[in-house]
Amino acid sequence: MRIDLHCHSTASDGTDTPAELVRNAAAAGLDVVALTDHDTTRGYGEAIAALPEGLTLVTGAELSCRVDGISMHMLAYLFDPAEPALLAERELVRDDRVPRAKGMIAKLNALGVPVTWEQVERIAAGGSVGRPHVATALVELGVVPTVSDAFTEEWLADGGRAYVEKHETDPFEAIRLVKNAGGVCVFAHPAAAKRGRTVPEARIAELAEAGLDGVEVDHMDHDADARDRLRGLAKELDLLVTGSSDYHGSRKTVALGAYTTDPEVYGEITRRATGAFPVPGTGGA
Ligand SMILES: [Zn+2]
Ligand SMILES: [Zn+2]
Repeated sequence: MRIDLHCHSTASDGTDTPAELVRNAAAAGLDVVALTDHDTTRGYGEAIAALPEGLTLVTGAELSCRVDGISMHMLAYLFDPAEPALLAERELVRDDRVPRAKGMIAKLNALGVPVTWEQVERIAAGGSVGRPHVATALVELGVVPTVSDAFTEEWLADGGRAYVEKHETDPFEAIRLVKNAGGVCVFAHPAAAKRGRTVPEARIAELAEAGLDGVEVDHMDHDADARDRLRGLAKELDLLVTGSSDYHGSRKTVALGAYTTDPEVYGEITRRATGAFPVPGTGGA
């Protein structure tokens, strides 16, 4: 059984539509795929309508959080998408995305980069606009060779020259909101040092105490040392260990199913969740 629990669609900053994503997931030989767009659930309907037989969809989202001034991502699975408190928090974070992107564009303009809001809006193509869209504009303009090269101190990494903070949820509050909506929380790529400062282990222990369910260990942004360290920490804190591609379509090079989650861990996630059930494919449209 092949399980990939972290994928993005055009509902946020991926390049596959939700329908394309589930078809590609089936073609890649996956049995289970999670749709985890940034701070939104709006891809669910299209993904479910197109879901091929033999593929199960786990509904989720990747929530933008910040603790001690450090940005971090929290994967939330199988929560009730209509639960009002979590819904309001997702909207608060999303509403801040446009002014934030405009702030980054202004900083880039001041640095002599001729990026425009129209260009970034075109790249986002109706999706919830984010830093990868601004990064893609930098690639289009020939400022950097790849999107990853834009995520450096020189440009868009946390604290970088063109970085702008956004409203992000306190992760303790995120855990409370997700649990209250019947969901399960997994800390996404906790050791992705290339993206900026990472959350200290002592803080992860506190998050575990507050109800964090797991940590994403097998991820493209973690080297072998980071994975070993996280696996040890997960064991110590009794946290679930997941692996996933963090697929963004053609925006990143990683393939669907490049990293996967153990079926036992997946089973435990579905047992803990009470807000929604995994959706089995029925053939799709
Ligand atoms: Zn992330
Ligand atoms: Zn992601």
